Amino acid sequence: MKKWNDQFDLLVKSRTPLILIRSREEERVETLIREASKRLSPIRLATWDYVEGLKGILNSEGLGARQPMAVLQWLQKVDPSLPTILLAKDFHQFTEDAGIARMLRILSSEFRKTPHTIILCAFNWTPSNDLYDSLTILDLPLPQENELKVLLSNIANASNSNLSKNTLEELTHACSGLSEIRVRQVAAKALAQRGQLSKEDLSEVLEEKRQAVARSEVLEYFATEASPSDIGGLDALKLWLNQRHEAFTDEAREFGLPLPRGVLLIGPQGTGKSLTAKAIAHSWSMPLLRLDVGRLFAGLVGASEAKTRETIQYAESMAPCVLWIDEIDKGFGGDARSDGGTSQRVLANLLTWMAEKKSAVFVVATANGIERMPGELLRKGRFDEIFLLDLPSHQERFKILELHINQRRPNLNIPIETVVDRTEGFSGAELEQTVIEGMHHAFSEKRELQETDLILAATQLIPLSKTAKEQLDFLKDWASSGRARPASISIY
Ligand code: ATP
Repeated sequence: MKKWNDQFDLLVKSRTPLILIRSREEERVETLIREASKRLSPIRLATWDYVEGLKGILNSEGLGARQPMAVLQWLQKVDPSLPTILLAKDFHQFTEDAGIARMLRILSSEFRKTPHTIILCAFNWTPSNDLYDSLTILDLPLPQENELKVLLSNIANASNSNLSKNTLEELTHACSGLSEIRVRQVAAKALAQRGQLSKEDLSEVLEEKRQAVARSEVLEYFATEASPSDIGGLDALKLWLNQRHEAFTDEAREFGLPLPRGVLLIGPQGTGKSLTAKAIAHSWSMPLLRLDVGRLFAGLVGASEAKTRETIQYAESMAPCVLWIDEIDKGFGGDARSDGGTSQRVLANLLTWMAEKKSAVFVVATANGIERMPGELLRKGRFDEIFLLDLPSHQERFKILELHINQRRPNLNIPIETVVDRTEGFSGAELEQTVIEGMHHAFSEKRELQETDLILAATQLIPLSKTAKEQLDFLKDWASSGRARPASISIY
C-alpha cells in the first residue's frame, strides 16, 4: 500500500481540490484517509454523510445533515490556516443536481489556493463530462498480501484461533482478490461454524470467489472437461501452449521468464477456437472465466468501463485462471462515432491491464475475422502470440473424424479414408456434424455405423467454407505475411 499512500499524500500536498477514489470499500478508504491525515498533520479529517451530517470537527458535528450544499458551503468558509480533508460519502449521488455540480466546480478552482480537499468514493459511477475535468481519479487496488495477512491474523488472534504460519500463508494467498469486507464475511462465517479460523476455510474462500463471479453480469464460470487430446490437429498451437504452461512455474520466474500474457486465436467458425480455450483451462487445472463482450457494452451508457474494471478484479481474484474473451472482434469493432468512444476506452483499459498485469491470468481471445478487429489488438506484443486456425488439412480431418467416432462408438474400427477425401473444406464442427448425421442414418436402420453413412452425411452438408471462401482467403493472405502463426504446422 506504500505506493498508494505516497500517491495519495502527493495529491493532497499538491493541493488537489477534488479526488475521486474508485473503490467499493468505503470503510477501508476511510481508514486509509484517516491514517493519511495523521501522516499529513496538521491536516484535519472530516467525514460527511447524508443522514448524520458532518463528523470529526469540533463544534460542527451534525452540520449539513440532509443538506449536501450546506457542507460544501461550510468547507468553502473554513479558514485556510486549518487545512481540511472532507470525505463526503455517497456524494456522487448528489452531483446530478446542477447547483451541487456547479459548487463543486467552483470549489475545485478555489481550493487550488486554499489547502482543502474533497474526497468522493464510488466504484460504478461515471462523472458527467463537466465534472470529469475537475476530478482527479485514484483507483484503490484490492487489499494486498501484507494487508490481508495482517487482517487475517488480527481476526485469528481475536478469535483465539491458532493459525500456523503455513495456514496463514495459504489463507492469505487464497483471499487475494477479495475485498476486506468479503474477507471479514468469510471469516465471520467460519467463526460461526467452527469457532475459529483454520485450513478448512480455504474451500470457503474459493466458493466465495466463485460466487463473486456468479454475481458478475459479464463473467461466466465455465466448467469444462475438454483436454488437448480432444483436439484433432492444431499441433503447432498445442506444442506452443505446452511451453507456455511451463512458464507459469516458480522455476520459470527464477529463470527470468515473464508470466505468459495470452493468445489470440483467429479462424472461421467451428475450427476449434472455443474448444482450445476450454482445453487450456482444464489441462492447466485453472478455472475458465468467459467474458461476454456483448454484455460489457449492454445497459447504461458509461457503465461499460466500470464493468471492465470489475471484470479485471474478478479475474485477478481467481488467478491463476484463464480469461476467455469470446468474439473479441465483434465486441470491439464498434464505431467510435456511434458509441461515444466507449468501446475505444474499454479496449484501452483492457490493453493497459494486459500490458501491466502481474497476475497469472492467461487471456485467450477468439475471433472469426480481422475485418472488424481494432488494429491495436493485432499489434505485436499485445498477446504472446496470434494463431490462425485454418480449415483442417487431410491429415487433421482424419484425426478429427476418428476422434468424434471414438468418442461416440469407442470400439468401432471402420475405414474412413474416402470420407476424409470427400470432406475437404469442412471445419472441425462440420466434421463432428457429419459423424452425428451418419450415426442417425445407421441408428434409424438399426445397424452399426459404416463409412457409407458418413459419406452420405458429408454430401448432404454444405460447408461454410463454400459460402465464406472470400473471407477465408483474405484471412489467410493477411496471416501469410507473418502477422499470425499457423496453428496446424507441427514444425516451426
Ligand atoms: P465459433 O467461431 O463459431 O465460436 P469455434 O472455432 O470456437 O467456432 P468450436 O466451438 O471450438 O469452434 O467448435 C465446435 C465443436 O466442433 C467443438 O466443440 C468440437 O466438438 C468440434 N471441433 C472443432 N474443431 C475441432 C478439432 N480441431 N478437433 C476436434 N473437434 C473439433
